[in-house]
Amino acid sequence: MSKCDTIIKGGSFITMDPEFRILSEHFMVIDQGRIVDILPLDQIKQYKAKQTHDAFGCLVTPGFINAHSHMPMSYFRGLADDLPLHTWLKDYIWPLEAKMMTPDFVYDASLHSAAEMILNGITLTNDMYFQKERIADACIRAGMRVLVSEAIIAPKYSGDGHEFAEKLLEFEDAYRDQPLVGCTIAPHAIYTCSAELYSSCARLAADHGWLLHTHLSETQQELEDCLKLNGKRPLEYLASLGVLEAKCLFAHGVWLSGKELELLEGSQSAISICTDSNLKLASGIAPLKDMLKRHLSVALGTDGVASNNNLDILEELSTTAKLHKAINADPEFLPARDAFALLTIGGARTLGKEQDLGSLEAGKCADLLIIDLQNLQSQPLYHPYSQLVYALGAEQIRDVMVAGNFVLKKRQLSNLDEAELISTAQEYQIKIQKELRQ
Ligand SMILES: [Zn+2]
Repeated sequence: MSKCDTIIKGGSFITMDPEFRILSEHFMVIDQGRIVDILPLDQIKQYKAKQTHDAFGCLVTPGFINAHSHMPMSYFRGLADDLPLHTWLKDYIWPLEAKMMTPDFVYDASLHSAAEMILNGITLTNDMYFQKERIADACIRAGMRVLVSEAIIAPKYSGDGHEFAEKLLEFEDAYRDQPLVGCTIAPHAIYTCSAELYSSCARLAADHGWLLHTHLSETQQELEDCLKLNGKRPLEYLASLGVLEAKCLFAHGVWLSGKELELLEGSQSAISICTDSNLKLASGIAPLKDMLKRHLSVALGTDGVASNNNLDILEELSTTAKLHKAINADPEFLPARDAFALLTIGGARTLGKEQDLGSLEAGKCADLLIIDLQNLQSQPLYHPYSQLVYALGAEQIRDVMVAGNFVLKKRQLSNLDEAELISTAQEYQIKIQKELRQ
């Protein structure tokens, strides 16, 4: 008999492995934060676990991956809606950030987002903001994975970016013993960073094995300004600067043309579409069908709460699947299983984490969700993928495990106090309203 930390027994394991196996009447063996095996229930006596967790009547899926977020923006939820992106940023978000962004604010707001993400089944988020240490600390406390970055906003900067890299190296050193945390290099966008900076960030990313995380082609204005200034479309412009030498994660990609998408074919770079945020800011709809036809690596991102206005990535998935069927007049586009892949194994690939995350397979990290099906919304159940994409809500996510530890059990956060988070958010609301009146 072999010893292990945890056994999850019963339920249907939606593995998202290369054969997309769904294993019923099975149990999962977890040890030291990783999946050891998924075996038929009649072999359960081979293992002695410290804890056994019952998942009968549930779906067990990989944890969801959020490919683009701004965690500390949670306290700006609903603060300024119904505005175009550039007005919203310049008149509201940036001035407020300049006034409010203390280390405590960043930490508390990130903690709020981490709790909300866990309740929505997100086990890893790829974040872009400032004061990355505070965001990393909040995620460590909540028990979720994060890729942090220090957004580089430097339109007139003509340096070589090395001081940013030095800071990232110091960060990696300081968080060496924190397996939940990683970092990326993040020039904010082509309208806030110089050509030199992009070139040098790409070289640094390639040299140090960092993902280059940037916004790209979000609005028509960005596209038109880029054509006027550089005579090229945004991705053509970045490609001419050598940016595609690095592995990149481009957030949004709403206005990418077929020719630009062609540049990504065979590259290691990927796109995070942000459907809800793009719809709400009326930025447009990303050409997802063309992206997938070209076999590009695509994931979903919530973007920040200030433009979403929540971190419910299942809602994001459902909207994305239905919207793209409608605009393509093609109900067969993006079948439920392919849609669910965007949130799991596809998400892991976009961030270069597919060796460890995105599917339930022996050797991978034990990041998973146990989804309760014993409720009206979940029954009857003919096709699990259909249920996951079109029917289920986040409320059905009963338990969440990250690296072998339960961070949510029966909808209760293991490491955070939900009531305390709510009252802290209300205190910040008062402070922000005071700032807005001044
Ligand atoms: Zn963003």
